[in-house]
Amino acid sequence: MKEKNVVTKIQVYSYTELTDDDKKLVDLAKEATNASYAPYSHFHVGAALRLENGVMIKGANQENAAFPAGLCAERSACFNAGSNYPDVPIETIAVIAVQNGEVVEDPCSPCGVCRQALLEFETRAGKPMQVLLAGRDTIYRLQSVKDLLPLSFTEF
Ligand SMILES: [Zn+2]
Repeated sequence: MKEKNVVTKIQVYSYTELTDDDKKLVDLAKEATNASYAPYSHFHVGAALRLENGVMIKGANQENAAFPAGLCAERSACFNAGSNYPDVPIETIAVIAVQNGEVVEDPCSPCGVCRQALLEFETRAGKPMQVLLAGRDTIYRLQSVKDLLPLSFTEF
C-alpha cells in the first residue's frame, strides 16, 4: 500500500492586504448578499466575479421551499456570466456570507456542486480562475479552482 498526500496552497490575507481590484470584488460579493433569498437557512451568501474583460457580475443564493430548486450564489453569478459572456474567461470569483447581519467569521467555502461547476468554467476557459473566500477578517486566496477540488472529475 502506498499513501498519497494532496497539497492545497491557500494564501491567507487580511482585507487590507488585498489588491484594490480584489477588495472591490469582495465588497461586491458582500453587497450581493443583500439580494440573497434565504428564508430557510438564514445564511445569506454573495458571490462576485470579474471577467477577463473587466465586467463584474454578482450572484446571491436563492432558496426555494422545494430545496433542490434553489441555487447557490456562486452558480448564480457563474451562470449569469456564462449566459451573457459565454466566451469570456472568469479571472476571479469572491464568495462571502452574512448571518444575523454580520459577515461570518470563517471564510465562506463553496459547496461540492459549486466546486464542480466552477471547475468546468475554469477548464472551459483554459486558464486558472482565482478564488477568494472571504470571512470577517480573513480572506483565503486560491490560484485555481483545482485547489478547491482535488482529484476532480473532468471530461477533458
Ligand atoms: Zn453551492
